[in-house]
Amino acid sequence: MQTASCMSEDGLERFLDRSLKGRPGCVVVYSLKDKRIIGELGDSISLCGLHPPGSLVKIISALAALDEKIVNWDYRVKCDNRFEWGDTVYNCCFGGGHGEVDMEKALMVSCNYFFYSLVPLGLTIDMVVGHSEYFGFDNPPIFRPELPSGKLPDNSIDPFRAVIGLWPSGITVYHVLQMAIIMAAFDRAEFLPGETVGYIQCNISNFYRVRDALKRGELPNSRIRYGGKTGTPSVPVQNGRTHAWFTGWAPFDEPEYAIVVFLRDGYGSRDAEPIAREVLSELLIDSN
Ligand SMILES: [Zn+2]
Repeated sequence: MQTASCMSEDGLERFLDRSLKGRPGCVVVYSLKDKRIIGELGDSISLCGLHPPGSLVKIISALAALDEKIVNWDYRVKCDNRFEWGDTVYNCCFGGGHGEVDMEKALMVSCNYFFYSLVPLGLTIDMVVGHSEYFGFDNPPIFRPELPSGKLPDNSIDPFRAVIGLWPSGITVYHVLQMAIIMAAFDRAEFLPGETVGYIQCNISNFYRVRDALKRGELPNSRIRYGGKTGTPSVPVQNGRTHAWFTGWAPFDEPEYAIVVFLRDGYGSRDAEPIAREVLSELLIDSN
C-alpha cells in the first residue's frame, strides 16, 4: 500500500499537543524511512524518567520462553483470573478470566495468567533480562545517550511480577521506542538505527511469530493496519494509580512510523492506544 506523510514537523508537534490534551505524559514518533525521531512532546519527567514497563515486557517474556524452549508456540493454559502459587494468588487483568489462552491470544489480550504459568515451567528473571538486551535496555537509549540505562530487575524481586513487567524502576520511553522500531523492522536493516542491528540475536522465526501476534486493528477511517502492545503498570508508590503505555508501528507489514505513548495516569488500551491510533492515522494517508 502506498502511503505518504501529510504533515510538516511543526504541524506534527501541534497535533501531538492536541492529542495529549494537557495530560501528564509524552509521545515520541520515529520515521523508519528517515531513521530519526520526527516528533516528540511531553513533560520532562515522562520523557527522561525511568518507568515500570508493565505488559510491554510480555513481548520479551514471550521471546525468552520460546528461545529458551520453556514452551513451544502451541502451549496453552486456561485462565480463570486467579493463578495460585504457594500461599500467593496472582490475578490476571480480566475479571472472569480469559479462558483458553495460547501465546498469540496472551499477547493480544495481555493475559497475565499465561505469563505467570511460565515461571514454574522454568522462565527466570535472568532469561527475561537477557532477552531485554535485544532491545538495548541495558544501555542508555541510543536517541538520548545522556539518559540512564534501563534499571532491570534482579533476583530480589518476585519472578511472577518480573515476567509481566512490574519492575521496581524500569526503562525510558526511548528504550520502549527502540523496542517498537526493532519489532517493526528487525528484518529490514535499512530502517534500523545502526546500533540496534547488533542487539538482535534471537531466533528469527520466534521473532516473526511474536510480531504477528502484535497485530492490532485498522487505523481510524482507513484500511491501514497497525501493530503494537499496551501496558498498564501500577505505580509503585501510589496505590491504585496506573501508568498507561502504548507502543507500536504502522503500517503493520510495510512499517513507516514507530510510536510510543506514555501517560503518567491512565490505562494502556483505554487512554494511550487511542492517542497512538490518532497520531499514526494523521501521519499516513491512503493514497489509493
Ligand atoms: Zn488472563
